[in-house]
Amino acid sequence: HAKDVGVTYIIDEVNKDNDAKKKILLASELKKSLIDNQLELYFQPQLSLSSNGIIGVEALIRWKHPKLGIIPPADFIPIAEENGFILAIGKWVMYEACRLAKQMQTEHHLFVPISVNVSAKQFWHHELLDTIQDALQTSQLEARYLVLEITESITMKAGQGIQISTQLQQLGVKLSIDDFGTGFSSFAYLKKLPLSELKIDKSFIQDLVESKTDRDIVQSIISLAHHLQLDVVAEGVETEQQIACLIELGCDIIQGYYLSRPIPFEQLVELLKRHHAQ
Ligand code: C2E
Ligand code: CA
Ligand code: CA
Ligand code: CA
Repeated sequence: HAKDVGVTYIIDEVNKDNDAKKKILLASELKKSLIDNQLELYFQPQLSLSSNGIIGVEALIRWKHPKLGIIPPADFIPIAEENGFILAIGKWVMYEACRLAKQMQTEHHLFVPISVNVSAKQFWHHELLDTIQDALQTSQLEARYLVLEITESITMKAGQGIQISTQLQQLGVKLSIDDFGTGFSSFAYLKKLPLSELKIDKSFIQDLVESKTDRDIVQSIISLAHHLQLDVVAEGVETEQQIACLIELGCDIIQGYYLSRPIPFEQLVELLKRHHAQ
């Protein structure tokens, strides 16, 4: 009974416009989420524009709170980053993503690389390499099926970032720069990082068809990426016109609602099987 009163209180408070209080309450609920199995990975497919095949999936976390419903990552990842809980969440995501990628292979014969978001705190943490190594070992997933999405901020902290990235590359995992264009990449370091992919932020894709400026920006990013021999993923692709535009600009891979929203694992398997059968 005492627990129920607590939850009612939390719902009331979260629905009030008190940001500070909301944050504290969500933070304390978040600690329970891992123990109570409230976190779940959803997946969004990525389509190769050249082969028309699904050549990757991004894992996106969902928090299914028993009373508050589904809480989107934008509402809790920043809090988790602030209080350090992102490290525990990030670890869970890594093991879970590797486990499910392996399950796709063994149970469904689907061999699709999985992209995992790695927050900056997690990237700089000394346990990162061990965690990834252990997640791969435990799941028996080959490293080449794991892609780490890191943010541009990492490209700014020179030496160390290159060192960690190189160690990750030596493990055999791939590195992708997420939300490209929104940060301040140093091109000098970009060149030195062992990357395999750039993801163009969806803010540049949104008005691609209407805005000449955005088309020019996307064109420049694609040209830069190709000079560095990186694949380019456009995220947030919602319309056929955007796809036509991206084909014209030479983009390699698309991801977005046009193809599919992020979906639970079982639905992803069905989607991949359907796509495979075509
Ligand atoms: P992100 O990595 O940039 O992920 C892409 C976001 O765009 C996702 O939001 C996805 O659902 C959304 N999206 C995909 N296609 C479209 C589209 O066509 N139109 C629009 N408007 N949006 C689209 P989501 O799932 O809410 O995740 C938000 C952010 O939360 C992610 O942005 C990522 O930064 C973070 N995040 C999600 N999962 C994790 C995780 O496991 N670990 C960490 N550290 N961060 C995560
Ligand atoms: Ca991402
Ligand atoms: Ca992104
Ligand atoms: Ca983003």
